Amino acid sequence: MTHILSFHAHPDDAETLCAGTLALLAAAGHRITIATMTAGDCGSTTTTCEETARIRKAEAAAAAALIGADYLCADVGDLCVFNDDATRRKATEIVRAVAADIVLTGSPEDYHPDHEATSILVRDALFASTVRNYETGPAKALETIPHLYFMDPIDGRDRSGKRVAPEFGVDISAQFEIKAAMLAKHESQFAWVIKQHGITDFAASLGRFSAKQGTLFGVAYAEGFRQYTGTPYPRSEALQGLVGAALKVAH
Ligand SMILES: [Zn+2]
Repeated sequence: MTHILSFHAHPDDAETLCAGTLALLAAAGHRITIATMTAGDCGSTTTTCEETARIRKAEAAAAAALIGADYLCADVGDLCVFNDDATRRKATEIVRAVAADIVLTGSPEDYHPDHEATSILVRDALFASTVRNYETGPAKALETIPHLYFMDPIDGRDRSGKRVAPEFGVDISAQFEIKAAMLAKHESQFAWVIKQHGITDFAASLGRFSAKQGTLFGVAYAEGFRQYTGTPYPRSEALQGLVGAALKVAH
């Protein structure tokens, strides 16, 4: 059994970008943990930050439970995710506590500052996770650095609108329904995305993006990934091997 950690910025990012892959791996008997840097506490105009955080953590936990996954939050505030000492220690503590073999995080290029900062923080938390004298809390330092993958940016584009191409895709056509069901658990966000992003149908928008990534690989729905293989991160293709026949390479 392999343990996979999805560690992105906000509740609903994993559902948008990698939940199909997580569902596929969970069904194959692997262990899944979903972690977020923030509880999405600013994602409301009608409730206080504390109340919003409570609601959104419960929604994220309910979404994770649909595939038997655990949910953790680093409890950093929305728009307060910075690549600084305190936040890197929080991220490293989660990486150590989960002790996953494979970590999926956000794209280093994205439209949202929290997404970009989380990508850097998680990348560097993996590096720090094996450094014994780097103190972060009760969790033990890891023996080896986990395999690291970047998810697609939201809508597959960087902040200038340029497409960011995945290295490989995972065919999630068979998992799209559960992915959509996971996103639907984030009920408090439906009104917010209409107001903030002008997206009137959360589920249809998820379908359009997953289908767009699918066209890159000749399947109905896909999620794209890039492996980070800088020194001293592992270069073996752990996730690619784990998804089996669902692995799709762009042509
Ligand atoms: Zn987000």
